[in-house]
Amino acid sequence: MIIDGKKTAAELREKIKKEISKLKSTYNAVPGLTVILVGEDPASKIYVKNKEKFAKEVGMNSEVIRYPADLEEKVLLDKIQELNKNKRVSGILVQLPLPKHIDKRKVIETIDPRKDVDGFHPMNVGNLSSGYDSSIPCTPLGCSLLLKKVEKNLSGKSAVVIGRSNLNGKPMTQLLLKENCTVTVTHSKTKDLKAECQRADIIIAAVGIPKLVKGDWVKKGTIVIDVGINKTDSGIVGDVDFDQVSKVAKAITPVPGGVGPMTIACLLKNTVECFKKSNI
Ligand code: NAP
Repeated sequence: MIIDGKKTAAELREKIKKEISKLKSTYNAVPGLTVILVGEDPASKIYVKNKEKFAKEVGMNSEVIRYPADLEEKVLLDKIQELNKNKRVSGILVQLPLPKHIDKRKVIETIDPRKDVDGFHPMNVGNLSSGYDSSIPCTPLGCSLLLKKVEKNLSGKSAVVIGRSNLNGKPMTQLLLKENCTVTVTHSKTKDLKAECQRADIIIAAVGIPKLVKGDWVKKGTIVIDVGINKTDSGIVGDVDFDQVSKVAKAITPVPGGVGPMTIACLLKNTVECFKKSNI
């Protein structure tokens, strides 16, 4: 089974669009997403453009604030404080990476945790790991929705997460624990990654190494979610060798067209959740 992230994301956006239309008639207001982009990073510019496009498409208020790369950190922090107070703004996202002279941690911690649609604020990270209600980072949230497309009940499954980044590996681990999986977190110092993967019912690859996971690393019946987006001479590829692994896996996400489209759809979902909580 090829897990169609593009289709699943389109379905999710459709659901969100309907929900926003209902919220509009209840509250006479719609969720608002503000994205801040600092500098000219080409990949970031594309991501932000897509976020704006899809936010508008589902009927949200969408605003992008663009700053030059030499922006003073204080100006950014002051703008975030202003947005924290703005009732029309339900979610704030500062596109990463930021220029080196700006302290990423300070920026993330300035965002009101109730408007933190990326789920990076320490309060949301702590809530997620404590099993409390929280904003969940968009990519891992997308991965778990795709997993649920294949199997509703993941309880007792053995899951291997490759990568331990704050963005992907760590929150993914928490989500799998919440589903009662037995989780092994692997990283660059893991001794025998192949053997770890061979035992897994679920593999989440979030590494950034093209085609790292090979066909003989995966047992029959495993669900494989490929988070990787790697530019190579032959185009964009994932962290999984799709041609090899798709022959043995029970289900696998392609790259592109797997996890990628879910990330933005989940950002919209998080924005709606923030809006609803602010109206309770
Ligand atoms: P990251 O911050 O660079 O983290 C990579 C992780 O992989 C680290 O924990 C690292 O271990 C581990 N690692 C490196 N080499 C390894 C090896 N040989 N064996 C096992 N683990 C190894 O990366 P990231 O931000 O999580 O991104 C991972 C990939 O996902 C990238 O390709 C990125 O482009 C992609 N991505 C996709 C989306 C999407 O929407 N689909 C969103 C974000 C990122 P250490 O901790 O020991 O260094």
